[in-house]
Amino acid sequence: GLGIGLVGLPNVGKSTTFNALTKAQNAESANYPFCTIEPNKAVVPVPDKRLDELAKIVNPERLQHSTLDFVDIAGLVKGASKGEGLGNKFLSNIRETEVILEIVRCFEDENITHTEGSIDPIRDIEIIEQELLLADMDSLQKRIDSLKKKAKGNDRDAKAQLEIAEELMEFIADGNPVSSFEKIDEDSFKAMNKDLRLLTSKEIMYGANVDEDGLAEDNEYVKAVKEYAAERNREVIKLCAKVEEEMVDFDEEEKAEMLGSLGVEESGLDQIIRKGFDKLGLMSYFTAGVKEVRAWTIRKGTTAPKAAAVIHNDFEKGFIRAEVISYEDYIACGGEQKAKEAGKNRLEGKEYIVQDGDVMHFRFNV
Ligand code: GDP
Repeated sequence: GLGIGLVGLPNVGKSTTFNALTKAQNAESANYPFCTIEPNKAVVPVPDKRLDELAKIVNPERLQHSTLDFVDIAGLVKGASKGEGLGNKFLSNIRETEVILEIVRCFEDENITHTEGSIDPIRDIEIIEQELLLADMDSLQKRIDSLKKKAKGNDRDAKAQLEIAEELMEFIADGNPVSSFEKIDEDSFKAMNKDLRLLTSKEIMYGANVDEDGLAEDNEYVKAVKEYAAERNREVIKLCAKVEEEMVDFDEEEKAEMLGSLGVEESGLDQIIRKGFDKLGLMSYFTAGVKEVRAWTIRKGTTAPKAAAVIHNDFEKGFIRAEVISYEDYIACGGEQKAKEAGKNRLEGKEYIVQDGDVMHFRFNV
């Protein structure tokens, strides 16, 4: 469930954005032979300048970034939840993601029709939100029906879940997303939502798709989206999908030049990947060897043995200790040896919570 789902009304630039992500995947795919390529999925490298800094010191043969999964979720249009209902494919695709990236059209172009007849990002956002909410009401009603049957017996868990489900139903029927529901009984809510995975319980980020000239300065549409998002504590990332698609083939220098000429520092796509990674509660630690300098993905709050298991299962079972140098110390000292000489190499045990950017060696029994 650790992925980002892309949604958006037709003609907002969702496919263009997803194409750019797919190109980013393909550019790196030789490095990720373990990833199967699926048409609606892109596994993209997470930009991290720290890897380049480590590589400058270590001079490795290979460099590997952390990756992040994006899933293109087709089928979300106005009225989608009515009639036939949202298809099973739609629901299973969106359920496997934890964060939603909604691409919102913030550019004008007479040649590209808007299905609603005008450019109005807030209206678009509300249409999508409404569809997600209707889908949730549908799933929740089914759950309530089945919980009612179970609660007739003496199933206390079912009774607790039913109570919360009915309360939640009232809440979302008023137009509120599940994410703003005050969970009175967190455990019952989690139990209920575990396989239900209600769509409006997911975090939303907005990708405001602008024309090239809207990148340096916010246009009125972007301003409206930012205001709307701020009230809901959500992130807005401005991008020009067309430019992103073009830039994927560029080398670093060409990319920097392009971004400079457009008046921005970081590409919108890079921001989406970076912030999405963070929103999912993920972080990276590093291993730095001459064969490979590599970032490994873990959840924030992961202990050293569990972090080691990401490299190999045996590392967790036989874990003895970890040798850790923080990224800052590693760079400031100019590498592992000098960091050790400066006393910056820490020995950490099983309880150690790995920190973002830790450069690690694991000691383990085989
Ligand atoms: P989708 O239906 O949301 O997947 O939209 P597409 O990505 O297919 O884009 C619809 C049309 O809008 C295509 O012709 C794109 O080239 C165009 N488009 C996408 N982003 C932009 C943009 O930032 N500016 C302009 N002018 N056109 C764009």
